[in-house]
Amino acid sequence: MKVIVLGAGSSAGTPVIGCHCKVCTEAHPLNCRTRASCYIMAGDVGLLIDTGPDLRQQALREKLHEVSAVLYTHPHADHLNGIDDLRAFCFRHKKAIPVFGNQFTIHNIEERFGYTLLPPTTHWERPVLSAHVVDEPFMVGNVNVIPIPLLHGQWPIFGYRVGNVAWLTDVSEIPESSFALLEGLDVLFLDCLRYLPHYTHLSLDQAIVLATRIGARQTCFMHMTHEVDVVEAGKSLPDSMMFAFDGQQIEIAE
Ligand SMILES: [Zn+2]
Ligand SMILES: [Zn+2]
Ligand SMILES: [Zn+2]
Repeated sequence: MKVIVLGAGSSAGTPVIGCHCKVCTEAHPLNCRTRASCYIMAGDVGLLIDTGPDLRQQALREKLHEVSAVLYTHPHADHLNGIDDLRAFCFRHKKAIPVFGNQFTIHNIEERFGYTLLPPTTHWERPVLSAHVVDEPFMVGNVNVIPIPLLHGQWPIFGYRVGNVAWLTDVSEIPESSFALLEGLDVLFLDCLRYLPHYTHLSLDQAIVLATRIGARQTCFMHMTHEVDVVEAGKSLPDSMMFAFDGQQIEIAE
């Protein structure tokens, strides 16, 4: 099994348009972050988590050619608005892509991107998706996917666990009942917006506390704003923790 970090950035991405701060102007490769998303390959199943506005560039960069399913965390623009670029995968294989999410997320997709849920035309020029509301573990091919209920401010959203990898973006609180779903992780990707607390996200300090409790072999923080210079901040993290970066790949024995 292999995980590719497509994007480790926050809603604005880093560098931020028009920003003159040190992180944005130096644009160190580790501080160039597209919008948060990842791709998990398990055998011949390729799972995409979210479709942010940078999906096209991310897919080209990582040479993605197959998406077996999309796992949606929540419908904020930085996680959803690249949905139209799924048409490339539908067109290539002439088949619909199943997309999964909680009721709130799927309803939002139906309202805002209803055209993606229509049957294909003869030319397949639109995305052709089939929407599935889920609230418990489900299979994509032979891969078991476990939705992890989270809170993003007042929104109930999902993180996802596949094998011993979990992707928990845009978290402000992990409900007590979700910790049992996070035992024995090899790799945990966890929201870590910035240094100061935020109503809908984890700060670095909060993320470290939660990562310590969950106790994954390796924790990779992600969804950082330009306020976090990961080159500097990475030096003082505990051994089992690091900042995720665009293009990061981790192989995990199944
Ligand atoms: Zn986000
Ligand atoms: Zn900046
Ligand atoms: Zn969000």
